[in-house]
Amino acid sequence: MSMTLSAKEAIFKHGLMCRCPRCGKGRLFNGFLTLAPRCEACGLDYAFADPADGPAFFVMIIMGIPAAAFGVWVEVTWEPSFWVHVLTSLPFMLLTCIPPIRPAKGMLVASQYFHKAEEGRFVVPQQAARKGPPVSGQVDSGG
Ligand SMILES: [Zn+2]
Repeated sequence: MSMTLSAKEAIFKHGLMCRCPRCGKGRLFNGFLTLAPRCEACGLDYAFADPADGPAFFVMIIMGIPAAAFGVWVEVTWEPSFWVHVLTSLPFMLLTCIPPIRPAKGMLVASQYFHKAEEGRFVVPQQAARKGPPVSGQVDSGG
């Protein structure tokens, strides 16, 4: 497949398939959520990828609402015992929240790759470094 995808298409396609964001062929994960060290097909080093809690956050926000609504609906409609929730609401919550985490992480890693997102760094400009530290006693009034 020599077709060139736009960044947005590649983020969705390769991210959802959990494939390398550059070539779309190599696997992104070694385990369920553990990133492989590099792409087995093109050799892209995945060290840049660090979506942290992003996938869990988005899945919680997006899928947690229908999962909680289902539990509330069961409770309000039938007022069942606790064990009915253990057998219905809990599996529903797990099925709506756990499977989407992997493709969400794949999409965030692909997004990091295409947008060159990385951890923020403090950069000291050369001129400021030559002048030395700011003079104490000066207060910025902010306006
Ligand atoms: Zn690759």
